[in-house]
Amino acid sequence: MSDGRWGGRLGDLFPVHPQPLPDELLTSWLLRTAHGNGMKLQRLLDVALGKSAATLNRDYDRSVPDAHLKRYAELTGIDARRLTECTLRGFSGTFVEEVKTTTNTPWILAIGVQHRKRKLYGQQYCPSCLGTDFVPYFRRSWRLAFYVECNVHHVAMCDACWACGAQVIPHRIDVGQPRMSLLQNMRYCHRCGDDLAHAPHYRLDIGDIEVAVRLRSLISVHWWQESIGNGYKSQTMADDFVDWRNLCHILRSRRVHLNRLGPAMGSLLHREAIPDKGRAGFTVEHARVHERVVVLIEGLWLLCDWPQRLGRVLRFARLTKRRLLSSYTNWSPRMRHVLIDDA
Ligand SMILES: [Zn+2]
Ligand SMILES: [Zn+2]
Repeated sequence: MSDGRWGGRLGDLFPVHPQPLPDELLTSWLLRTAHGNGMKLQRLLDVALGKSAATLNRDYDRSVPDAHLKRYAELTGIDARRLTECTLRGFSGTFVEEVKTTTNTPWILAIGVQHRKRKLYGQQYCPSCLGTDFVPYFRRSWRLAFYVECNVHHVAMCDACWACGAQVIPHRIDVGQPRMSLLQNMRYCHRCGDDLAHAPHYRLDIGDIEVAVRLRSLISVHWWQESIGNGYKSQTMADDFVDWRNLCHILRSRRVHLNRLGPAMGSLLHREAIPDKGRAGFTVEHARVHERVVVLIEGLWLLCDWPQRLGRVLRFARLTKRRLLSSYTNWSPRMRHVLIDDA
């Protein structure tokens, strides 16, 4: 290993094996591990798993098999359980009951993997975090649809390169680069090379103080496994997120009757009409961050001043509680209690 490269013998530990940083995504840690050992990420994956292993051609942070994690643990000496925490599966039992490995999961942003590229903008970043990190890295929480504001810097999250508009694909930063330039880090756009930390920093304009407090509390304790004191003992954190997501989708629904709620909210809050997305419809996990911010705030607004505000808006939209109740089967106990009451 005279040139500092890993020899590749089975059973060898990599010479450099950085610990995962707080809330670090698996692919971010893998990239740092590869570059720390003088390799491109693809080379690390090839020597660890063989060339035929399916890795970056899928949403690897969600779907990585346990066998791969075990192999990385052998090569780095880091506990496989710690590496599991770097995956999106580690969120199971918090804001969602289970993170699926094969299908989309509520609240986890889709990245639309197509070969090694991405069609969707599901990898967000905080320009302040990347700009102030001693070692820039990508967080798991940046893949969450409700995580629209950095919990540390309170600036809006970005979901594309501010300079060229490309999707953010940290693991492509070393593709086509000479090996000696691996000092490049995740702050840079894989397409144009600009510094993501230079993206404009702006604060969300939430308007309503109760909604602002609620949004920030959900962002900061989304990993909590119990209810956060909403008065319903059987209500879990996942239940709160189910109601919020259902309302967001109804606010952008094109279904007859349900499609009255969004325009009613719009006129109550004096916002401009939302352009129809055509046949594609609206899914919070597929939406760009600027679209999500608006609907997430409206959804939370309906859940504040509970339950009087929801009742007032339903009457204004000429939408019955019964109709709302039947629109989804997974409403929380708290929501069902209110919708069944005089439904
Ligand atoms: Zn930040
Ligand atoms: Zn760019």
